[in-house]
Amino acid sequence: MKHIDEIELEQYLDGNVSLVRRGLISIHLRKCTLCSERLEALRKEREELLNIGQTMVRLVHARETVTQSGLYNSGKVSSGDDE
Ligand SMILES: [Zn+2]
Repeated sequence: MKHIDEIELEQYLDGNVSLVRRGLISIHLRKCTLCSERLEALRKEREELLNIGQTMVRLVHARETVTQSGLYNSGKVSSGDDE
């Protein structure tokens, strides 16, 4: 039986495969340690990426909060009254 390629494993993780394909992949994964290990590795890789992504979002968000409060404190820069 043909092994599942990485692209398909990623699609499987994303749920981007048809039901039939999904069934075939999960049957293969049950039989094939190699592919299930690869899937597990991909899943871990994703989790790490996700964690990094979330940390970055938090950092950006923190910076935005600082910038916003800075603007707020300097306040009343342009009220647009002279129009
Ligand atoms: Zn395999």
